[in-house]
Amino acid sequence: MKDLLLVGRIHTLDPARPLAEAVLVRGGRIACVGAEAECARRAGAGAVRLRAGSAVPGLVDAHGHVQGLGRSRREVSCVGAASPDECAARAAERARSVPPGGWVCGRGWDQNRWPGAAFPDEATLTRALPDHPAILTRVDGHAAWVNARALAAAGIVAATPDPPGGKILRGAGGRPTGVLVDAAQDLVLAKVPAATPAAIEDEILAGLRELVSLGLTEVHDAGVGPAALDVYRRLAAEDRLPVRVYAMIDGEAPLPALEAELRRWKGRGEIGRLTVRAVKLFADGALGSRGAALFEDYADDPGNAGLLLTPPEVLRAKVRAVAAAGFQPAVHAIGDRAVAEVLTAFEAAGDLRAVRPRIEHLQIVRPREVARLAATGAIASMQPVHATSDGPWVAARLGAGTERYRGAYAWRTVLRAGVPLAFGSDFPVEDADPRAGIADAEERTPRGGPPFTPEERIGREEALVAFTRGAAFAGFAEGRRGTIREGLDADLTVFAGDVAACTAAELRALRVTHVVVGGRVEWAAAGSP
Ligand SMILES: [Zn+2]
Repeated sequence: MKDLLLVGRIHTLDPARPLAEAVLVRGGRIACVGAEAECARRAGAGAVRLRAGSAVPGLVDAHGHVQGLGRSRREVSCVGAASPDECAARAAERARSVPPGGWVCGRGWDQNRWPGAAFPDEATLTRALPDHPAILTRVDGHAAWVNARALAAAGIVAATPDPPGGKILRGAGGRPTGVLVDAAQDLVLAKVPAATPAAIEDEILAGLRELVSLGLTEVHDAGVGPAALDVYRRLAAEDRLPVRVYAMIDGEAPLPALEAELRRWKGRGEIGRLTVRAVKLFADGALGSRGAALFEDYADDPGNAGLLLTPPEVLRAKVRAVAAAGFQPAVHAIGDRAVAEVLTAFEAAGDLRAVRPRIEHLQIVRPREVARLAATGAIASMQPVHATSDGPWVAARLGAGTERYRGAYAWRTVLRAGVPLAFGSDFPVEDADPRAGIADAEERTPRGGPPFTPEERIGREEALVAFTRGAAFAGFAEGRRGTIREGLDADLTVFAGDVAACTAAELRALRVTHVVVGGRVEWAAAGSP
């Protein structure tokens, strides 16, 4: 690998030397950070001048779903559909290239955008797709809309009971309306033919290529099943991963199967750009589908306080088993009750600081849980974009001005308590663009609305740190990555302007020019040197 010398505004995010003139990359590592003359003297190549541009440590998305991103580019997308009919029409369009009886899959609908904000009915989808079983996942992945063929394939009828952790929405006489919430989706998903390893590889690589083009050098993949982990292992061994992947083992299997998977990876989780040492667990559902577990009922749905997807005693047993095996528990918790349950599970497992337990999303947190978070040493793995995309309806769910509303997306509160903060996006649920994430963390302003609890805003540098150093810490990599310092891995994101000084609006459009992973330029904008 040739030396790479970048000269310009280098924001190291290293408190000891925040700004440098030059950075020299050699053999995958940072060989020099400092004055141009000093680094140039040691360089075996000419300098790439950033001019008005700037470089930061490689940006990391600490929570996303890589295969889901790749697949979403192939599936029917109902993102932005203004009605159930529009979403169904997009699915019908796709069905024209699928033989009758073949599955049509998609995602991205959001009934909050539809007239009356009501959940759709199978009849609409059945009319549009009479000959294909179809399953369309809600934008947050916590509910699915299916048609009559899909209900029949899964054998779901009026007499079918709700599965544990799930709900079959029903109309008159118990008739399934075609919306399956949380674990009830599995009744249908189990009937969709599994992807082949070649298809999984295609989806993973498509997802990673999109991520690197957005300026990301690493992603934490939040919940990966055994088949996709095998694909990752092969791609890593063949050095075909364009970005680093910190893959969390999908912890949804019953405990004995999960423990077998942990044994499979124990001591074997570091392969090239792949790290496997965390386990993704679920406490509850999501706020949009009213599946997040709250202490009090939803303000817009009296009698419903959401769902704990994993019974507390099972969650505690899994956290204990994961930590005992030396793996990092990373638990999805959105509602205030789910957050409290996860903290109880962390506390019950003893001192977990060595395995750095994480709470994924941590969307609603009560003041009393903030101190527990700090005491357990838990990492807050949060996604700024949720605050802006949920913004238009979150007051309706939680009640404007309530304590739990003020505890939503509480980044400033988390930082003030000294809780380690890692940022991500939860793609493909949300846009994976880290520029949008940083700008959202600063602005907290939903489209067309006023800022959402502006006292929880954070600054540019704090947001950059959460997307770099914070994410590195969440992945046990702070000694190797997260800042620009001599000896660390040469992961860099280079922008056409000054990423630290531009306005939030400018940042959203700021061009990424180079993405360097382990000293290799994995992506360069057209026309860049
Ligand atoms: Zn997620």
